[in-house]
Amino acid sequence: MSLRVVKGDITKLKVDAIVNAANNTLLGGGGVDGAIHRAAGAELLEECRTLGGCETGEAKLTKGYQLPAKYVIHTVGPVWHGGNNGEAELLRRAYRNSLEIAREKGLKSIAFPAISTGVYGYPKDAAAEIAVKTALDFLKDYEMDIILVAFSDGDNLRYQKQIEGNCGN
Ligand code: ADP
Repeated sequence: MSLRVVKGDITKLKVDAIVNAANNTLLGGGGVDGAIHRAAGAELLEECRTLGGCETGEAKLTKGYQLPAKYVIHTVGPVWHGGNNGEAELLRRAYRNSLEIAREKGLKSIAFPAISTGVYGYPKDAAAEIAVKTALDFLKDYEMDIILVAFSDGDNLRYQKQIEGNCGN
């Protein structure tokens, strides 16, 4: 199984694709989205302008430009509205559809930030569980090096716990 956690800044990772937790416009924002656009350079925004936005739970691919990563897969996680508005399924689909794009493109490694857990307000433990379960589910059928990027010590611990909990049985 090739799921692991890396602590740090996703824009520094030399992988086939990093995933961006974007918004529906794909025209940039704060948080990890802002960091990715800053590191990739202005050409990334130019390509994003041609994509016509992205529905929540869907994903779209661009090149990585100045990033060490070859590609960026832009996905849009749900805004947390209390949990009864399909948030869990939308978050699962954001992970799954990003992985499907990577597979279709023949990519071997992909790194994810903790989608929706910043300004979108998704509870971090519940989001970590979905990230780990969706990745492990995908790895039942396909070979890929999947990295979950923890931006804080708390996220790091959360992911480690989830992985232990899901791999031990
Ligand atoms: P969302 O709008 O989907 O909630 P945010 O960008 O606000 O997205 O936050 C998503 C997660 O990305 C948060 O857990 C935040 O700590 C993390 N994050 C922010 N910057 C980076 C970075 N450079 N590398 C990795 N993770 C990051």
